[in-house]
Amino acid sequence: MSNNILENLTAIKNRISSACEKCGRNPEEITLVAVSKTKPDEDVVQLLKAGQVHFGENRAKALEDRMASISDSKAEWHFIGTLQTNKVKYMAHRVNWIQSVHKKKALKEIEKRAGSEGRTINVLIQINISSEDQKSGCEPEELENILKYAANLKHTKVLGLMGMATFTDDLEVVRPEFRKLRTLRDEHIHLNGGAVDLKHLSMGMTNDLEVAIEEGATMVRVGTAIFGERNY
Ligand SMILES: *Cc1c(COP(=O)(O)O)cnc(C)c1O
Repeated sequence: MSNNILENLTAIKNRISSACEKCGRNPEEITLVAVSKTKPDEDVVQLLKAGQVHFGENRAKALEDRMASISDSKAEWHFIGTLQTNKVKYMAHRVNWIQSVHKKKALKEIEKRAGSEGRTINVLIQINISSEDQKSGCEPEELENILKYAANLKHTKVLGLMGMATFTDDLEVVRPEFRKLRTLRDEHIHLNGGAVDLKHLSMGMTNDLEVAIEEGATMVRVGTAIFGERNY
């Protein structure tokens, strides 16, 4: 990884292409979300100019500030952090994707806020796939109920599932977790309909994006390998 974020971006795209080649997938199926958390606006602007479209933040305030300071209409903003329902109102005017919805209450709030902005917000349902104590996302058993509720929404489109694997370098721990997310998607694909279309699997980060792509990821969320190490 270099200090040059444009070189880093190219390197990541190459990693995505090689991973796709290895498993016979088309790199155009993969959306790269550049996770800019804690990094300066200048970095984001530089990447936007180089054609990068999707950016992710994991804190509501950071996303709000970012969307306010960078007005480029081509940017698509993703919220990827733990979602508190009372924070939806700070992002609904501009956020394009909320990847971390894990309960009906949040969907209800997104629907209300997106509706009053006259917008549609794309949503992924976050599933707890890791074995770590600090769990995030809903349990797999809760998914069906959430999707049935989502089908009737007008301003909220559920477009897939998101998961974070256990934080480890052991890719063979991570692989079955990604596989679990994909299987869960396949098991619920019959609930497609209305505002539900489970085409996306958001999984894979700097350390495990190849495995995620092999297991069916359509979105990878990459921070460190593009922007460099963070201080937390
Ligand atoms: C920080 C973060 C990422 C990116 O992680 P890296 O290891 O820096 O690539 C991806 N997803 C979520 C939810 C994050 O919070």
